[in-house]
Amino acid sequence: MCTSFLFLPDTTTPLNRVFALAYHRLLLSAKPSHMTPSVGAIPELITSAANAEVKRLRSLHQRKYRRQTGWFLAEGTRICTEAVALGWELHRLAFLAGREDHRSIRPLIEALIDAGGRSLPVTEPLLQRISRKDNPQMVVGAFAQRHIELSDIHPNQSDIWVALDRVRDPGNLGTIMRTIDATGGRGLILIDDCTDPYSVEAVRSSMGAVFNVAIASCSQPEFLAFAAEWPGRIHGTALLASTDFRAVACDGPLIILMGNEQAGLPDSLIHACTQLIRMPMRGRSDSLNLAVATGVVLYEALRTRN
Ligand code: SAM
Repeated sequence: MCTSFLFLPDTTTPLNRVFALAYHRLLLSAKPSHMTPSVGAIPELITSAANAEVKRLRSLHQRKYRRQTGWFLAEGTRICTEAVALGWELHRLAFLAGREDHRSIRPLIEALIDAGGRSLPVTEPLLQRISRKDNPQMVVGAFAQRHIELSDIHPNQSDIWVALDRVRDPGNLGTIMRTIDATGGRGLILIDDCTDPYSVEAVRSSMGAVFNVAIASCSQPEFLAFAAEWPGRIHGTALLASTDFRAVACDGPLIILMGNEQAGLPDSLIHACTQLIRMPMRGRSDSLNLAVATGVVLYEALRTRN
């Protein structure tokens, strides 16, 4: 298959000029296509931060543009490959130019082309700008977000869901997604104004778990209506709750309800719980970090179910 490369004229900065020259040399020294299997027509090398596709990817750091496009960024070949294998829709793939035949990048580009997406060979400085990291991964993908409705949740006996009230910290949210995935939980219910599960920070902290955890968002009244119909237990976590978390049953469909980092759970949500549980605090700290507390409760549920 023929591989066509075109250069954009932007070689205005010294770094871009050096990179464009190196890239050109690489192409000239490339083996014939019958010796080096290639991935079809790779578009031109992008060296300019003003390129519309680069701008579009960079805009996905802002919630406003993630909402507008319904896209989000995920980094790294392992995570992008797993996402594609799980059927997530990949729209764009920015990758380090010259690596299109790398064994873990080639299948991604092929999947992208099959799905009608665009591959974007970029310079390392541009990858840094897209990912806002000094040491960026070799690829950054733009995927379509997925959101489910509460009405899509039809729990069976083994299902565990985590509901988070107004979670604010993307690192906490990503870590919680990672732990839900690790413990075989079904997904996440985000109540009221939460941080975006598709922000770059949350996706990074989830280490790819965002692709394996169902996500629903709702208002508090919607959650209360849903909770009223829930066929199983709802364990609320609260510092003043009286039952030790190791003393409660966790069988059947289970929702673990966690409070906001500053304010904890409001009374309205506490009343929706079938049980309030606490982890004992022996030292001077008055509470656990939200993600740590969620992990403790999830692993206890897993232990008692096993
Ligand atoms: N000042 C808040 C309060 O009074 O609830 C602290 C919130 S804490 C940082 C965030 C959430 O983590 C809590 O709402 C609760 O869901 C959970 N959490 C933290 N430590 C806990 C503990 N020891 N027992 C039960 N839940 C806890």
